[in-house]
Amino acid sequence: MIQVKATEIGWNFVNSYARLPQLFHSNTNPTPVISPKLAILNLSLAVSLGLNVEALQSKDGIAMLAGNQIPQGAMPIAQAYAGHQFGYFTKLGDGRALLLGEQITPQGERFDIQLKGSGETPYSRRGDGRAVLGPMLREYIISEAMHSLGIPTTRSLAVVTTGESVFRETEQPGAILVRIAASHLRVGTFQYAAKWGTIDDLRVLADYTLQRHFPDVEDDENRYLTLLQQVIIRQSILIAKWQLVGFIHGVMNTDNMAVSGETIDYGPCAFMDAYNPATVFSSIDVHGRYAYGNQPPIAEWNLARFAETLLPLLHPDQKQAERLAQDTLADFAEIYYCNWLAGMRSKLGIFNVEEQDEVLIKRLLDIMEKYKADYTNTFRSLTFNTLEDMTLFGTSEFSQWYQLWQTRRERQPESKDSSQQLMKSCNPALIPRNHRVEAVLDAAVKRQDYSPLERFLTALANPYAHSLEQAEYAVLPEPTMRPYRTFCGT
Ligand code: AMP
Ligand code: MG
Repeated sequence: MIQVKATEIGWNFVNSYARLPQLFHSNTNPTPVISPKLAILNLSLAVSLGLNVEALQSKDGIAMLAGNQIPQGAMPIAQAYAGHQFGYFTKLGDGRALLLGEQITPQGERFDIQLKGSGETPYSRRGDGRAVLGPMLREYIISEAMHSLGIPTTRSLAVVTTGESVFRETEQPGAILVRIAASHLRVGTFQYAAKWGTIDDLRVLADYTLQRHFPDVEDDENRYLTLLQQVIIRQSILIAKWQLVGFIHGVMNTDNMAVSGETIDYGPCAFMDAYNPATVFSSIDVHGRYAYGNQPPIAEWNLARFAETLLPLLHPDQKQAERLAQDTLADFAEIYYCNWLAGMRSKLGIFNVEEQDEVLIKRLLDIMEKYKADYTNTFRSLTFNTLEDMTLFGTSEFSQWYQLWQTRRERQPESKDSSQQLMKSCNPALIPRNHRVEAVLDAAVKRQDYSPLERFLTALANPYAHSLEQAEYAVLPEPTMRPYRTFCGT
């Protein structure tokens, strides 16, 4: 494959993952595509990565984003991992993605650069190694929206169309997403090492993870326990943030849980409209395993699988190791709940802590559920005291709750103004609503009109601005008989 000057574009790769034992990856080149064209490029992200946006949009730049050329310094690999998919353990790996390398930014940060949809790999099983334009643009929109909402996430640098068709249920335009991540170390990577590696492989992986994500951890005998603790903390913070904005991941398999604490793998995810803990969007999640309200216990279940992989490193005595792991895992529920509760207080403009707050919050959520109130818009209306346009606001239950909330806010020293400021900074003006996402994708994919998508991305980039232009995005879709469904066949 042709090598071009990566320096002109600003690529500055190191390849620490590729130097891990062979068990963890497989050297694989992308499969070139017929006619790569840039569909969308994230200019501000490119700049923050130290990339030259003009060079990136040149023929060579786009060829690199499509996998038709390998930038100098990159060492493409497919990563090996395993995972519990809907509770069942399976051997997996990057079946349609390749890690080019780790970009070192001008600020000295390190990010994985991954091509998703870049062709078959040794882990493709029966898959074609390819991705479809609509779902890749969807990942772009939602991951960038999550980032702007202040939620740790992988990000999207670009989507390139391939000029090739991909066959799913119908013929679809093919595309490649260039994904940026703190790393692609997954719970499933540890499961892979524990099942198919030696204890030395496992230790190498754990040491690598510590060095990459938790460099401040002291080199003491309990460092692997600290690793477990730190991953639990990051995940509990992440899941609390998801719950607070009504994000439903949709496929929280252990291979889709990053140890860095970033949201990863945007497949059948979607944001909840009406508040209901049982909300599920994914067409394949027939038992609601990954329903909104199940996300915290599922995260805990996934972390228990993570802890199991670390047992041989935690203590030479199996029983002692299990006890250490269990004690540490027990922290998840509490850390999660504290973060969620603190976030909910802020959403209601409450600064200090009172024991009765939990009851106040629970009562609001109960009546939101009863009256099928839109989650995002309820908090938005409370923020601006615009309490007309929802059934919920006309009920006596709400009036009673509202009185309790007012007196609660009056009991804190902060002014009403600062309470409202707090609410504005915690309750988004907009989220990537399902019908809006579908509409902009339709325009882009079916009519090659990217302007609605661009406008939507601009509005989503600043979700706490509460600007006039954002108001249109708070409008709910007309009620339909058919619930919104998301699909995995991407
Ligand atoms: P996901 O549901 O996206 O987390 O993917 C689960 C597994 O299936 C991962 O190992 C993916 O790499 C693999 N996979 C998904 N789509 C394809 C495809 N089109 N070709 C090959 N492998 C795929
Ligand atoms: Mg995945």
